[in-house]
Amino acid sequence: MDTNDVINFFREKGLKVTSQRLAICTFILSRKDHPTAEQIYQELRNEYPTISLGTIYKTLHLLQELGLIQELGFNEGSVRYDPDMELHINMVCSKCGKISDYKAENVEKLWSAIISDLGFKPKGQRIDIYFECNDCK
Ligand SMILES: [Zn+2]
Ligand SMILES: [Zn+2]
Repeated sequence: MDTNDVINFFREKGLKVTSQRLAICTFILSRKDHPTAEQIYQELRNEYPTISLGTIYKTLHLLQELGLIQELGFNEGSVRYDPDMELHINMVCSKCGKISDYKAENVEKLWSAIISDLGFKPKGQRIDIYFECNDCK
């Protein structure tokens, strides 16, 4: 989704398109590193000095309700945001917390087999693999 797509999407849903909302949306939708709300705040506040962490949380929550991003909560209490809604595996470094995505055809095949066994279409899915990344080894 580019900026225009986001604007159109919001308008179709009857939602206000403020410049801060738009900035948060385009930021998270373009990121593959699963940032936290705090990281998004740190990166956007130079350009948007009046932006608050509260606005960032609210907007992220809205995007999750609209089905544009996933909220990934972790045991130690951190919440990361993932704009990839398709089936994929989150590769989580258990030391530094870095997350990257892994996609593979065989995962999709296995997943379709699981779903046909279950006999219903899941509302969502999340698969995490924990490992130690190259920087932490
Ligand atoms: Zn992911
Ligand atoms: Zn690491």
